[in-house]
Amino acid sequence: MSRLVVTGGCGFIGSALVRRLVADGHDVLNIDALTYSGVIANVAPVADAANYAFLEADIRDGAAMAAAFGDFQPDAILHLAAESHVDRSIDDPMDFLSTNVLGTASMLRAAEGWLAGRSDDIRDRFRFLHISTDEVYGALGAEGLFSENSPIAPNSPYAASKASSDLLARAWMHTWKLPVVVCRSSNNYGPRQFPEKLIPRTIVSALQGRPVEVYARGENVRDWIHVDDNVAALVAILERGVPGATYNIGAGNERRNIDLVRDICALLDGLAPRTEGPMSDLIAFVEDRPGHDFRYAIDSARLRDDLGWEPSVAPADGLRRTVEWYLENRDWWTPLLDEVYDGGRLGLGS
Ligand code: NAD
Repeated sequence: MSRLVVTGGCGFIGSALVRRLVADGHDVLNIDALTYSGVIANVAPVADAANYAFLEADIRDGAAMAAAFGDFQPDAILHLAAESHVDRSIDDPMDFLSTNVLGTASMLRAAEGWLAGRSDDIRDRFRFLHISTDEVYGALGAEGLFSENSPIAPNSPYAASKASSDLLARAWMHTWKLPVVVCRSSNNYGPRQFPEKLIPRTIVSALQGRPVEVYARGENVRDWIHVDDNVAALVAILERGVPGATYNIGAGNERRNIDLVRDICALLDGLAPRTEGPMSDLIAFVEDRPGHDFRYAIDSARLRDDLGWEPSVAPADGLRRTVEWYLENRDWWTPLLDEVYDGGRLGLGS
Protein backbone atom coordinates (compact mmCIF):
# COMPACT_ATOMS: atom_id res chain seq x y z
CA MET A 1 0.00 0.00 0.00
CA SER A 2 1.19 3.50 -0.83
CA ARG A 3 0.77 7.05 0.32
CA LEU A 4 -0.78 8.89 -2.60
CA VAL A 5 -1.54 12.57 -3.22
CA VAL A 6 -4.35 13.17 -5.72
CA THR A 7 -4.94 16.74 -6.92
CA GLY A 8 -8.37 17.62 -8.27
CA GLY A 9 -9.88 14.75 -6.33
CA CYS A 10 -13.28 16.45 -6.01
CA GLY A 11 -13.72 16.64 -9.78
CA PHE A 12 -15.17 14.07 -12.13
CA ILE A 13 -12.16 11.82 -12.84
CA GLY A 14 -10.25 12.71 -9.67
CA SER A 15 -13.11 11.66 -7.40
CA ALA A 16 -13.52 8.33 -9.21
CA LEU A 17 -9.78 7.80 -8.76
CA VAL A 18 -9.87 8.77 -5.07
CA ARG A 19 -12.78 6.40 -4.38
CA ARG A 20 -10.94 3.55 -6.10
CA LEU A 21 -7.57 4.19 -4.38
CA VAL A 22 -9.17 4.45 -0.93
CA ALA A 23 -11.15 1.25 -1.55
CA ASP A 24 -7.88 -0.44 -2.58
CA GLY A 25 -6.43 0.44 0.83
CA HIS A 26 -3.98 3.21 -0.10
CA ASP A 27 -3.53 6.26 2.12
CA VAL A 28 -4.90 9.11 0.03
CA LEU A 29 -4.53 12.87 0.47
CA ASN A 30 -6.94 14.70 -1.82
CA ILE A 31 -5.86 18.28 -2.57
CA ASP A 32 -8.55 20.37 -4.24
CA ALA A 33 -9.39 24.07 -4.30
CA LEU A 34 -13.13 23.38 -4.80
CA THR A 35 -13.50 25.58 -7.86
CA TYR A 36 -16.83 25.62 -9.72
CA SER A 37 -16.33 22.00 -10.91
CA GLY A 38 -15.12 20.61 -7.58
CA VAL A 39 -17.99 18.92 -5.75
CA ILE A 40 -17.24 17.76 -2.23
CA ALA A 41 -20.17 15.29 -2.38
CA ASN A 42 -18.19 13.37 -5.02
CA VAL A 43 -15.95 12.01 -2.26
CA ALA A 44 -18.68 11.55 0.36
CA PRO A 45 -18.46 7.73 0.08
CA VAL A 46 -14.87 7.85 1.44
CA ALA A 47 -14.99 11.01 3.53
CA ASP A 48 -14.92 9.13 6.85
CA ALA A 49 -12.42 6.45 5.84
CA ALA A 50 -9.33 6.26 8.08
CA ASN A 51 -7.08 6.15 5.00
CA TYR A 52 -8.51 9.33 3.42
CA ALA A 53 -7.74 12.98 4.08
CA PHE A 54 -8.82 16.18 2.35
CA LEU A 55 -6.88 19.44 2.03
CA GLU A 56 -8.66 22.41 0.53
CA ALA A 57 -5.80 24.22 -1.17
CA ASP A 58 -4.77 25.70 -4.49
CA ILE A 59 -2.08 23.89 -6.48
CA ARG A 60 -0.59 27.29 -7.36
CA ASP A 61 0.24 27.82 -3.69
CA GLY A 62 3.75 26.37 -3.68
CA ALA A 63 4.26 26.83 0.06
CA ALA A 64 1.02 24.99 0.83
CA MET A 65 2.01 22.15 -1.52
CA ALA A 66 5.49 21.87 0.03
CA ALA A 67 4.02 21.81 3.54
CA ALA A 68 1.45 19.18 2.53
CA PHE A 69 4.10 16.90 1.03
CA GLY A 70 6.33 17.33 4.06
CA ASP A 71 3.50 16.32 6.38
CA PHE A 72 2.09 13.51 4.26
CA GLN A 73 5.32 12.02 2.84
CA PRO A 74 3.84 10.78 -0.45
CA ASP A 75 5.11 7.83 -2.49
CA ALA A 76 3.40 9.27 -5.56
CA ILE A 77 1.48 12.28 -6.78
CA LEU A 78 -1.36 11.91 -9.26
CA HIS A 79 -1.90 15.39 -10.64
CA LEU A 80 -5.37 15.94 -12.10
CA ALA A 81 -6.34 19.41 -10.85
CA ALA A 82 -7.01 21.61 -13.84
CA GLU A 83 -9.39 23.88 -15.63
CA SER A 84 -10.89 21.24 -17.89
CA HIS A 85 -13.52 22.68 -20.24
CA VAL A 86 -12.52 23.74 -23.77
CA ASP A 87 -15.44 26.16 -24.13
CA ARG A 88 -14.51 28.02 -20.95
CA SER A 89 -10.93 28.27 -22.23
CA ILE A 90 -12.24 30.18 -25.24
CA ASP A 91 -14.17 32.56 -22.99
CA ASP A 92 -11.39 33.03 -20.44
CA PRO A 93 -7.99 31.61 -21.45
CA MET A 94 -6.03 33.24 -18.61
CA ASP A 95 -7.56 31.00 -15.92
CA PHE A 96 -6.33 28.01 -17.92
CA LEU A 97 -2.80 29.33 -18.19
CA SER A 98 -2.74 30.14 -14.51
CA THR A 99 -4.03 26.80 -13.19
CA ASN A 100 -2.86 24.37 -15.84
CA VAL A 101 0.56 25.85 -16.62
CA LEU A 102 1.65 27.70 -13.49
CA GLY A 103 -0.26 25.29 -11.23
CA THR A 104 1.53 22.31 -12.77
CA ALA A 105 4.89 24.07 -12.44
CA SER A 106 4.09 24.69 -8.79
CA MET A 107 3.29 20.98 -8.29
CA LEU A 108 6.48 19.89 -10.06
CA ARG A 109 8.60 22.27 -7.98
CA ALA A 110 7.02 21.15 -4.73
CA ALA A 111 7.45 17.48 -5.67
CA GLU A 112 11.08 17.97 -6.57
CA GLY A 113 11.62 20.02 -3.42
CA TRP A 114 10.19 17.22 -1.33
CA LEU A 115 12.29 14.56 -3.06
CA ALA A 116 15.54 16.56 -2.83
CA GLY A 117 17.84 14.93 -0.32
CA ARG A 118 15.70 11.77 0.10
CA SER A 119 17.33 8.39 -0.22
CA ASP A 120 17.82 6.75 -3.63
CA ASP A 121 15.31 4.13 -2.57
CA ILE A 122 12.56 6.72 -1.99
CA ARG A 123 13.45 8.53 -5.22
CA ASP A 124 13.41 5.28 -7.22
CA ARG A 125 9.95 4.38 -5.99
CA PHE A 126 8.48 7.87 -6.32
CA ARG A 127 6.15 8.68 -9.23
CA PHE A 128 4.61 11.91 -10.48
CA LEU A 129 1.69 11.01 -12.75
CA HIS A 130 0.82 14.01 -14.85
CA ILE A 131 -2.73 13.63 -16.16
CA SER A 132 -3.02 15.10 -19.63
CA THR A 133 -5.26 14.77 -22.65
CA ASP A 134 -5.27 13.56 -26.25
CA GLU A 135 -6.25 17.12 -27.17
CA VAL A 136 -2.55 18.10 -27.01
CA TYR A 137 -2.14 16.30 -30.37
CA GLY A 138 -4.56 18.61 -32.17
CA ALA A 139 -7.15 17.33 -34.62
CA LEU A 140 -7.35 14.33 -36.96
CA GLY A 141 -9.08 14.07 -40.32
CA ALA A 142 -11.29 11.11 -41.15
CA GLU A 143 -8.43 8.58 -40.87
CA GLY A 144 -5.61 7.72 -38.46
CA LEU A 145 -4.95 7.59 -34.73
CA PHE A 146 -2.85 9.62 -32.31
CA SER A 147 0.11 7.67 -30.98
CA GLU A 148 2.48 8.83 -28.26
CA ASN A 149 4.84 9.87 -31.07
CA SER A 150 2.32 12.15 -32.77
CA PRO A 151 3.44 15.78 -32.82
CA ILE A 152 2.08 18.11 -30.17
CA ALA A 153 -0.19 20.55 -32.03
CA PRO A 154 -2.84 21.92 -29.65
CA ASN A 155 -5.63 24.05 -31.09
CA SER A 156 -7.68 25.40 -28.18
CA PRO A 157 -6.41 27.43 -25.22
CA TYR A 158 -7.29 24.43 -23.02
CA ALA A 159 -5.25 22.04 -25.19
CA ALA A 160 -2.37 24.53 -25.39
CA SER A 161 -2.33 24.89 -21.61
CA LYS A 162 -2.26 21.11 -21.16
CA ALA A 163 0.47 20.73 -23.81
CA SER A 164 2.48 23.40 -21.99
CA SER A 165 2.10 21.51 -18.73
CA ASP A 166 3.24 18.30 -20.46
CA LEU A 167 6.37 20.10 -21.62
CA LEU A 168 7.03 21.38 -18.11
CA ALA A 169 6.68 17.82 -16.79
CA ARG A 170 9.23 16.74 -19.38
CA ALA A 171 11.60 19.55 -18.35
CA TRP A 172 11.42 18.53 -14.66
CA MET A 173 12.11 14.95 -15.66
CA HIS A 174 15.19 15.85 -17.65
CA THR A 175 16.57 18.64 -15.49
CA TRP A 176 15.90 17.22 -12.01
CA LYS A 177 15.31 13.54 -12.89
CA LEU A 178 11.84 13.75 -11.35
CA PRO A 179 10.21 10.35 -12.16
CA VAL A 180 7.33 11.72 -14.22
CA VAL A 181 4.88 9.63 -16.24
CA VAL A 182 2.53 11.45 -18.63
CA CYS A 183 -0.98 10.00 -19.13
CA ARG A 184 -2.97 11.23 -22.13
CA SER A 185 -6.58 10.19 -22.01
CA SER A 186 -9.36 10.47 -24.54
CA ASN A 187 -12.83 11.83 -23.66
CA ASN A 188 -14.17 10.40 -20.40
CA TYR A 189 -17.83 9.83 -19.57
CA GLY A 190 -19.67 8.45 -16.56
CA PRO A 191 -21.36 9.58 -13.34
CA ARG A 192 -20.54 12.91 -11.65
CA GLN A 193 -19.28 14.68 -14.77
CA PHE A 194 -19.99 18.40 -14.50
CA PRO A 195 -23.10 19.25 -16.60
CA GLU A 196 -21.21 21.59 -18.94
CA LYS A 197 -19.70 18.59 -20.82
CA LEU A 198 -21.46 17.04 -23.84
CA ILE A 199 -22.96 13.87 -22.34
CA PRO A 200 -24.31 15.24 -19.03
CA ARG A 201 -25.36 18.50 -20.70
CA THR A 202 -27.39 16.52 -23.21
CA ILE A 203 -29.00 14.42 -20.47
CA VAL A 204 -29.95 17.29 -18.17
CA SER A 205 -31.12 19.56 -21.00
CA ALA A 206 -33.40 16.79 -22.28
CA LEU A 207 -34.72 16.05 -18.79
CA GLN A 208 -35.53 19.74 -18.31
CA GLY A 209 -37.24 19.95 -21.71
CA ARG A 210 -34.69 22.52 -22.92
CA PRO A 211 -33.06 22.51 -26.38
CA VAL A 212 -30.42 19.80 -26.68
CA GLU A 213 -27.71 21.83 -28.36
CA VAL A 214 -25.42 20.19 -30.90
CA TYR A 215 -22.57 22.23 -32.36
CA ALA A 216 -22.70 22.65 -36.16
CA ARG A 217 -24.16 19.43 -37.64
CA GLY A 218 -22.73 17.18 -34.91
CA GLU A 219 -20.27 15.50 -37.24
CA ASN A 220 -17.22 15.93 -34.99
CA VAL A 221 -15.90 12.62 -33.67
CA ARG A 222 -14.66 11.83 -30.15
CA ASP A 223 -13.14 8.64 -28.75
CA TRP A 224 -15.01 7.83 -25.51
CA ILE A 225 -13.77 5.96 -22.46
CA HIS A 226 -15.73 5.19 -19.30
CA VAL A 227 -14.21 6.95 -16.29
CA ASP A 228 -13.79 3.62 -14.43
CA ASP A 229 -11.67 2.29 -17.30
CA ASN A 230 -9.60 5.48 -17.26
CA VAL A 231 -9.10 5.10 -13.50
CA ALA A 232 -8.02 1.46 -13.98
CA ALA A 233 -5.50 2.66 -16.57
CA LEU A 234 -4.12 5.27 -14.16
CA VAL A 235 -3.73 2.57 -11.50
CA ALA A 236 -1.88 0.34 -14.00
CA ILE A 237 0.40 3.24 -14.93
CA LEU A 238 1.01 4.04 -11.26
CA GLU A 239 1.97 0.43 -10.55
CA ARG A 240 3.85 -0.52 -13.71
CA GLY A 241 4.42 2.61 -15.84
CA VAL A 242 7.98 3.50 -16.78
CA PRO A 243 9.28 6.90 -15.59
CA GLY A 244 9.82 9.17 -18.56
CA ALA A 245 7.21 7.38 -20.66
CA THR A 246 3.93 8.74 -22.02
CA TYR A 247 0.86 6.50 -22.17
CA ASN A 248 -2.22 7.15 -24.31
CA ILE A 249 -5.44 5.97 -22.66
CA GLY A 250 -8.31 5.14 -25.00
CA ALA A 251 -10.98 2.48 -25.37
CA GLY A 252 -11.34 2.54 -29.18
CA ASN A 253 -14.89 3.85 -29.03
CA GLU A 254 -15.31 6.55 -31.67
CA ARG A 255 -18.66 8.26 -32.05
CA ARG A 256 -19.95 11.26 -33.97
CA ASN A 257 -21.46 13.76 -31.55
CA ILE A 258 -24.86 13.62 -33.25
CA ASP A 259 -24.98 9.82 -33.01
CA LEU A 260 -24.10 9.93 -29.32
CA VAL A 261 -26.75 12.58 -28.66
CA ARG A 262 -29.35 10.51 -30.51
CA ASP A 263 -28.36 7.44 -28.45
CA ILE A 264 -28.89 9.41 -25.24
CA CYS A 265 -32.27 10.68 -26.47
CA ALA A 266 -33.33 7.11 -27.30
CA LEU A 267 -32.26 5.88 -23.85
CA LEU A 268 -34.24 8.68 -22.20
CA ASP A 269 -37.28 7.88 -24.34
CA GLY A 270 -37.25 4.45 -22.69
CA LEU A 271 -36.33 5.54 -19.16
CA ALA A 272 -38.11 8.91 -18.78
CA PRO A 273 -40.44 9.49 -21.75
CA ARG A 274 -41.86 12.96 -22.50
CA THR A 275 -45.54 13.27 -23.20
CA GLU A 276 -44.81 15.93 -25.87
CA GLY A 277 -42.87 13.55 -28.13
CA PRO A 278 -39.48 11.92 -28.54
CA MET A 279 -36.47 13.51 -26.87
CA SER A 280 -34.77 13.87 -30.26
CA ASP A 281 -37.34 16.60 -31.08
CA LEU A 282 -35.35 18.77 -28.65
CA ILE A 283 -32.14 18.54 -30.71
CA ALA A 284 -31.10 22.01 -31.91
CA PHE A 285 -28.14 22.55 -34.22
CA VAL A 286 -26.28 25.67 -33.05
CA GLU A 287 -23.28 27.74 -34.09
CA ASP A 288 -20.07 25.72 -34.06
CA ARG A 289 -17.33 26.09 -31.45
CA PRO A 290 -14.58 28.39 -32.81
CA GLY A 291 -11.69 26.21 -34.02
CA HIS A 292 -13.63 23.01 -33.21
CA ASP A 293 -11.27 20.01 -33.62
CA PHE A 294 -12.86 17.61 -36.10
CA ARG A 295 -11.82 14.24 -34.75
CA TYR A 296 -9.85 12.62 -31.93
CA ALA A 297 -8.96 8.92 -31.91
CA ILE A 298 -6.26 7.33 -29.83
CA ASP A 299 -3.87 4.41 -30.22
CA SER A 300 -3.39 2.91 -26.74
CA ALA A 301 -1.29 -0.10 -27.81
CA ARG A 302 1.54 0.84 -25.43
CA LEU A 303 -0.78 0.77 -22.44
CA ARG A 304 -2.38 -2.49 -23.54
CA ASP A 305 0.77 -4.33 -24.65
CA ASP A 306 3.26 -3.14 -22.03
CA LEU A 307 1.01 -2.76 -18.98
CA GLY A 308 -1.72 -5.32 -19.74
CA TRP A 309 -4.60 -2.85 -19.45
CA GLU A 310 -7.87 -3.44 -21.31
CA PRO A 311 -11.12 -1.50 -21.10
CA SER A 312 -13.86 -3.46 -19.36
CA VAL A 313 -16.96 -1.28 -19.81
CA ALA A 314 -18.99 -2.02 -22.95
CA PRO A 315 -19.91 1.37 -24.51
CA ALA A 316 -23.69 0.76 -24.71
CA ASP A 317 -23.79 -0.47 -21.12
CA GLY A 318 -21.61 2.40 -19.88
CA LEU A 319 -23.82 4.98 -21.58
CA ARG A 320 -27.02 3.42 -20.25
CA ARG A 321 -25.64 3.34 -16.69
CA THR A 322 -24.52 6.96 -17.01
CA VAL A 323 -27.98 8.10 -18.16
CA GLU A 324 -29.55 6.11 -15.29
CA TRP A 325 -27.16 7.75 -12.80
CA TYR A 326 -28.21 11.26 -13.84
CA LEU A 327 -31.87 10.22 -13.67
CA GLU A 328 -31.43 8.84 -10.16
CA ASN A 329 -29.24 11.67 -8.88
CA ARG A 330 -31.11 14.86 -9.71
CA ASP A 331 -30.13 16.15 -6.27
CA TRP A 332 -26.49 16.06 -7.44
CA TRP A 333 -26.92 18.17 -10.57
CA THR A 334 -29.94 20.38 -9.81
CA PRO A 335 -28.05 22.60 -7.32
CA LEU A 336 -25.15 22.88 -9.78
CA LEU A 337 -27.54 24.18 -12.44
CA ASP A 338 -29.27 26.49 -9.96
CA GLU A 339 -26.16 27.92 -8.36
CA VAL A 340 -23.03 27.33 -10.45
CA TYR A 341 -23.78 26.96 -14.16
CA ASP A 342 -27.12 27.76 -15.78
CA GLY A 343 -26.78 25.24 -18.59
CA GLY A 344 -26.31 27.97 -21.19
CA ARG A 345 -24.00 28.14 -24.18
CA LEU A 346 -20.31 28.67 -23.43
CA GLY A 347 -17.30 29.14 -25.67
CA LEU A 348 -18.37 31.63 -28.31
CA GLY A 349 -15.54 33.83 -27.11
CA SER A 350 -17.75 36.84 -26.60
P1 NAD B 1 -13.06 18.54 -13.47
O1 NAD B 1 -13.23 19.92 -13.99
O2 NAD B 1 -14.27 17.70 -13.24
O3 NAD B 1 -12.26 18.58 -12.08
C1 NAD B 1 -11.16 19.42 -11.87
C2 NAD B 1 -10.90 19.47 -10.38
O4 NAD B 1 -9.71 20.25 -10.17
C3 NAD B 1 -12.01 20.13 -9.56
O5 NAD B 1 -12.31 19.38 -8.42
C4 NAD B 1 -11.44 21.50 -9.20
O6 NAD B 1 -11.94 22.00 -7.95
C5 NAD B 1 -9.95 21.17 -9.12
N1 NAD B 1 -9.11 22.36 -9.34
C6 NAD B 1 -9.19 23.23 -10.39
N2 NAD B 1 -8.26 24.20 -10.25
C7 NAD B 1 -7.59 23.93 -9.10
C8 NAD B 1 -6.52 24.56 -8.42
N3 NAD B 1 -5.96 25.69 -8.90
N4 NAD B 1 -6.05 24.00 -7.29
C9 NAD B 1 -6.60 22.86 -6.79
N5 NAD B 1 -7.65 22.23 -7.38
C10 NAD B 1 -8.13 22.76 -8.53
O7 NAD B 1 -12.05 17.83 -14.47
P2 NAD B 1 -11.97 16.29 -14.95
O8 NAD B 1 -12.83 16.13 -16.14
O9 NAD B 1 -12.14 15.39 -13.79
O10 NAD B 1 -10.46 16.23 -15.46
C11 NAD B 1 -9.41 15.87 -14.57
C12 NAD B 1 -8.09 15.90 -15.32
O11 NAD B 1 -8.14 15.00 -16.41
C13 NAD B 1 -7.73 17.26 -15.90
O12 NAD B 1 -6.34 17.45 -15.75
C14 NAD B 1 -8.09 17.13 -17.36
O13 NAD B 1 -7.30 17.99 -18.17
C15 NAD B 1 -7.81 15.68 -17.61
N6 NAD B 1 -8.58 15.05 -18.69
C16 NAD B 1 -9.93 15.06 -18.65
C17 NAD B 1 -10.65 14.43 -19.66
C18 NAD B 1 -12.16 14.37 -19.64
O14 NAD B 1 -12.75 13.84 -20.58
N7 NAD B 1 -12.84 14.85 -18.62
C19 NAD B 1 -9.98 13.82 -20.72
C20 NAD B 1 -8.57 13.84 -20.74
C21 NAD B 1 -7.89 14.45 -19.70
